[in-house]
Amino acid sequence: ELHNQIQETKGNIRVFCRCRPLNKEEILAAHATVVDFDVAKNGDLGILTNSSTKKIFKFDRVYTPKDDQVDVFADASPMVISVLDGYNVCIFAYGQTGTGKTFTMEGTVQNRGVNYRTLEQLFEISKERSETFTYNISVSVLEVYNEQIRDLLATSPASKKLEIKQSSEGSHHVPGIVEAKVDSIREVWNVLQAGSNARSVGSNNVNEHSSRSHWYGSCWIEFFFLLSLKLTNLPCHFSSYNQFTFELKTFTVSISMLCITVKAKNLINGECTKSKLWLVDLAGSERLAKTDAQGERLKEAQNINRSLSALGDVIYALATKSSHIPYRLEFNYACLRISLSQNLYSNFNDAFFGFRNSKLTHLLQDSLGGDSKTLMFVQISPSEHDLSETLSSLNFATRVR
Ligand code: ADP
Ligand code: MG
Repeated sequence: ELHNQIQETKGNIRVFCRCRPLNKEEILAAHATVVDFDVAKNGDLGILTNSSTKKIFKFDRVYTPKDDQVDVFADASPMVISVLDGYNVCIFAYGQTGTGKTFTMEGTVQNRGVNYRTLEQLFEISKERSETFTYNISVSVLEVYNEQIRDLLATSPASKKLEIKQSSEGSHHVPGIVEAKVDSIREVWNVLQAGSNARSVGSNNVNEHSSRSHWYGSCWIEFFFLLSLKLTNLPCHFSSYNQFTFELKTFTVSISMLCITVKAKNLINGECTKSKLWLVDLAGSERLAKTDAQGERLKEAQNINRSLSALGDVIYALATKSSHIPYRLEFNYACLRISLSQNLYSNFNDAFFGFRNSKLTHLLQDSLGGDSKTLMFVQISPSEHDLSETLSSLNFATRVR
């Protein structure tokens, strides 16, 4: 099929860049736009770094503020077919807070994002293919918290705690995990609700708060919790890996992920496949809204921003097989793994031997290996005031590509 040929020739990682419009405040304050959208037409993005210099970044696709959710999904939708063809797929959004990660992944009820459209199409195409394939689609709701994996769909407390087992061929699996069979978007929603009720209580402030405020507005905020990976108090969490220095003292990294497992049986040749679809909104810096970041929170914001830009350095080191990997980027490992193609992933894994035994690593490992396809949305702001963040996101993204 055409879409697969395109993906084959392009490799397993695609990077799309999406620029949001200037918002009301920025327009009122007459912020200049640093993004050159004329160049954007053919996958190039021009950034005016000052009045006389334009830097060009190359992407697989660039979306201007005029491109809507339908335009964006048009390019993401081949991934749905890949999942149904048996490939593992990760779709995720990366970028500074306020640039539209959540808008792209979740969207709003009126303006659905990638998550909803992906699932809608997943069910649609699986039904269309029902003469040739039998599909068994299920959802798991996990929480990784301080090196413990909890199954949020398990009914008895004893079965809530899970272990990752390695099979003789080296693949990892989680025996006993509840995979709730789903047949429609509505059923996914029901499962998500059950899962979010079972989350760790007291799992703290900002996330709790944003959960409630989003709960009523859009059902897709539930992705925010699904497999919400919380790494709290990192220095403690990773204390055994003392080759790392820790800059970040206390904050919660929350990555919202939805994992959909698709088992397929080809009715013609009898072949069975199993694939996973991950939908990820890297929500790590959610609470750092510029306007109310003050004092301690401002300090955290600065730390996180520094870490996010340094994330690019790690990726770069891996991509170029550099022997010097900037290790100080502890918390980003979780994010990073999601973005890695096969090659990068194994380099990464070798480099970060310390993380071989991390639950998180094991959990995600098989979903990133093999024929896994990754689609990354790099979200940027057009405002001159965000120029340095924009450049650091774009630098990061072009290194991955
Ligand atoms: P993030 O998740 O990266 O922090 P959000 O998705 O919350 O950012 O976006 C911040 C604000 O900008 C929201 O009000 C969102 O609706 C708006 N926004 C983001 N991208 C777009 C876009 N492409 N078109 C219109 N509004 C957008
Ligand atoms: Mg967000």
